Amino acid sequence: MEQARPLPKYLVQRYQGWKATTFADNKVWYKRLAEEGQRPHSMVISCCDSRIHVTSIFGADSGEFFIHRNIANLVPPYEPTGDRHGTSAALEYAITSLNIAHVIVMGHSNCGGVAGCHAMCSGNAPELDKASSFVGRWMDILRPGFERLDEKHDHDQQIMALEKEAVKISLENLMTFPFVVKAIEGDKLMLHGLWADISAGELHEYIPEENDFRPI
Ligand SMILES: [Zn+2]
Repeated sequence: MEQARPLPKYLVQRYQGWKATTFADNKVWYKRLAEEGQRPHSMVISCCDSRIHVTSIFGADSGEFFIHRNIANLVPPYEPTGDRHGTSAALEYAITSLNIAHVIVMGHSNCGGVAGCHAMCSGNAPELDKASSFVGRWMDILRPGFERLDEKHDHDQQIMALEKEAVKISLENLMTFPFVVKAIEGDKLMLHGLWADISAGELHEYIPEENDFRPI
């Protein structure tokens, strides 16, 4: 593959810094992780957004979180169609092979994917409506959330509500996977919904009884 090039210098320097400090200080831990395999307690499904730093928020070490990221932290419905379902594959592996105890769906404020979905569903983003738009077709998962928005709310309120709908719809879709339902019924798995407010550093948790989110 001729297009592969050496890493830019600043990344090489950062890596060397990590190797000389974090890795050097925790050599035994890394050796153990390599020899014993991973045993993460939680899976996090978060947005690709670079501002959502899952391991930093939870002060996590290597080996603790099985993390899957995609645009707008969406879980598609269970569709065993033989196609290339990356999110469903990660979920299947986490639950049936790693026996994860918690699946945490983490949405966030200022989500570009959700804003794009809002624009698309409002008829303001024709490029996302095209069959060839990977983002648009992925964001179709969130269309039912757009239908549930309150028309009386202003644009910003609707965007925030849709970010939270992305979490709720993912939680709903998780329950369409037979292995998720089975693990929950066997008391082996719990689902959690979070929405992170980037500027306030707050995490809001979904409360099913209230069908709403509350700060932790
Ligand atoms: Zn996002």
